[in-house]
Amino acid sequence: MFNKALYQYFLQVETPFYFYDISLLHKSLDNLTRAAGKYDYHIHYAIKANANDRVLQIIKDYGLGADCVSGNEVKKAVEMGIPSEKVVFAGVGKSDAEIIYAIDQSIFSFNCESIEEIEVINEWGRKKQKVVPVSLRLNPDIDAITHKYLTTGLPENKFGIPLQFLDRVIRRVNSLSHIQLIGLHFHIGSQIRELAPYIELCEKVNSIQDIIYKKHGLLLEHINLGGGLGINYEDPDAEPIPDFEHFFDTIHEHLKVREGQKVHFELGRSVVGQMGSLISKVLYIKKGLNKEFMILDAGMTDLIRPALYGAQHKIQNISRPGAQIKNYKYDVVGPVCETSDSFDDDVMLPKTKRGDLVAIRSTGAYGEIMVSQYTLRNKPKAVYSDEIRTASGNPLVIDEIV
Ligand SMILES: *Cc1c(COP(=O)(O)O)cnc(C)c1O
Repeated sequence: MFNKALYQYFLQVETPFYFYDISLLHKSLDNLTRAAGKYDYHIHYAIKANANDRVLQIIKDYGLGADCVSGNEVKKAVEMGIPSEKVVFAGVGKSDAEIIYAIDQSIFSFNCESIEEIEVINEWGRKKQKVVPVSLRLNPDIDAITHKYLTTGLPENKFGIPLQFLDRVIRRVNSLSHIQLIGLHFHIGSQIRELAPYIELCEKVNSIQDIIYKKHGLLLEHINLGGGLGINYEDPDAEPIPDFEHFFDTIHEHLKVREGQKVHFELGRSVVGQMGSLISKVLYIKKGLNKEFMILDAGMTDLIRPALYGAQHKIQNISRPGAQIKNYKYDVVGPVCETSDSFDDDVMLPKTKRGDLVAIRSTGAYGEIMVSQYTLRNKPKAVYSDEIRTASGNPLVIDEIV
């Protein structure tokens, strides 16, 4: 992924910075749209994974819609030119201002998580004389087999409407004059690497649909299965593009789609995760009593996933690409005054020196978007592979492995 010319370029850029491999983003989107197109599935990109303008622009150009979880994300989607009829808006705590804005934009669907919220939307719909399209986000009680902070479909999560309330909620929603119930929505978690939870989800959706039809004579037009498809963090080069085809084939095999129904997904991480790397410089190799600390100029303010939920990213010393022997063990840490400001412990790397560049891989999702300015640190900039020019002014070809 990082060839010599690219490395030479990196040496001139202020670190830390995010490097985005735009050609990989294109390839991922090619694969995704081809695989989803096979079944006419509708994809809404989950903006919270990465809302970088250039990245969003490319995603928009592939015709994807947007999955938003805040009013400002809805605004961003609209401002980027994503048609409002492709925008969905989820979240357990939508404020009145956010609701009003989204109603004014005539978005495709409010994905609602409680009857209390739907009643507020109904009131705003009445005031604005608009019937507002709503999907119910149901909590299907599925263990997504992922980190506990990344599950969202278990009964103890704050997300979604418990299935036990479904009957009551549908009856109540049907009595509201300014709400149109258009679909069902699910999102069971994130970084899900097994397909079993999705198969379980399909089966649950099938039976929920049967129940709704039997009890209420309702056949809702839209089924939204959310996002959550995981990526290979351990070995990004082995799997730079998630297997979207297998994912959608599996859904197609297990989900019963009724006449006229449309199926939607909200993918975030799987679209953008692998195209990003956080490039950082080694400030010090500090000897501890029993350990050696590799202190980087990137920290938890640049990439918070390891500190926030113990996420592990592949760390490479790209200044020593030829070094086959990785027999030095480092705790790779950042400069911020928090013990949790650590990227990983006991990382095996070639002998590393001050000034070496390291790449923290698979940081295209939930990286740049979560940057903070804690301790008044600078925000890392983004470098886009297709904007890099060689000294002679030609685009740099970066595909070849060092
Ligand atoms: C975060 C989120 C997604 C995207 O999740 P990924 O794991 O990035 O695919 C989809 N839908 C909703 C409602 C979300 O909150």
